Amino acid sequence: MHCEPFEYEKPVSLREFESLYAARADDARILAGGTDLMVLIKEKLLAPRLLIDISDLHELRGISWDPRQGLTIMAGTKIAEIERSTLVKEHAPALAYAAANLGSNQVRWMATMAGNICHASPAAETPPVLLAHDCELIIGRQGGERTLPISRFFLSYRKTALESGEYVKAFRLPPLPARAAVAYRFKGLRRAMEIDMLNIGAYLELCEDGQTVSDVRLAMGSVGPTTYRAAVTEKKLKGMPIGEDFFAAACGGVVQEATPIDDVRASAEYRNRVIGVLTRRALEECLEIIGARRSAA
Ligand SMILES: Cc1cc2nc3c(=O)[nH]c(=O)nc-3n(C[C@H](O)[C@H](O)[C@H](O)COP(=O)(O)OP(=O)(O)OC[C@H]3O[C@@H](n4cnc5c(N)ncnc54)[C@H](O)[C@@H]3O)c2cc1C
Repeated sequence: MHCEPFEYEKPVSLREFESLYAARADDARILAGGTDLMVLIKEKLLAPRLLIDISDLHELRGISWDPRQGLTIMAGTKIAEIERSTLVKEHAPALAYAAANLGSNQVRWMATMAGNICHASPAAETPPVLLAHDCELIIGRQGGERTLPISRFFLSYRKTALESGEYVKAFRLPPLPARAAVAYRFKGLRRAMEIDMLNIGAYLELCEDGQTVSDVRLAMGSVGPTTYRAAVTEKKLKGMPIGEDFFAAACGGVVQEATPIDDVRASAEYRNRVIGVLTRRALEECLEIIGARRSAA
């Protein structure tokens, strides 16, 4: 398929990349795995003058763990590396599970999590888990960086809080408290190579009594223009005892906050029916994980 001509640069150091991107941010696009970007270019939905390929930047690769700071995943790390990482499996198993569900093996060896969030599709796989973890983004630019909670990253459909010349440098997932867990649930038409019809990331933290909700985060995908946190419902659930009233408030609340549309994957009516079910299952899974950890301790 014919596409508009573009220049191509492949910097070999972060410093080179940052100065090139600072100089050309307005007509350049970062090329990570290219699994979203090249589709948009081929479909003529985008025509950047310059592609800056960051796939060789070793400074942007790797996963590390620090007991105080948590899990750090550099932006150029491939989805397949996240899926397989023992650190991710130990400290953020729901993220490893979401990564394993993205596309095919070939796609996962090309794609990055930074590309997944920067494309900012409301159906993307990793944002609900990152929101449930209350992940912090490290945003880089020439000569500096800033941190941003992921809850402030998605502004609207395909629009993020990145400013001109800024890029996603790393993800930081804080350590989970002892009585807390994250779960991820999705629904697609089939199990593989399918963009989700719906997905949800849930975080649940219990008080010391093991019966009362201390904190909860519900991150909803494909039921609005962006992946978002069901903030009104979260507020209502805090302090509730675990039980049928809690589940009813969670499931009813997320449906009230959702604004799904009909599209090629599902109808709004179907999404409204299923989002409550997925929410309940994700919260039940969190309870199981917390319970299993308590019995093992
Ligand atoms: C066959 C196929 C199946 C797929 N299945 C799924 C699926 O099941 N679930 C799903 O969520 N997605 C799926 N996708 C979409 C895609 O693979 C993912 O969104 C992927 O994570 C994108 O990452 P990438 O590295 O390829 O991004 P790219 O295509 O390289 O970039 C995407 C966007 O992010 C920007 N970008 C990339 N890195 C950075 C950075 N560090 N800082 C700032 N901007 C950046 C780019 O400029 C571009 O605008 C699929 C795609 C294909 C082709």
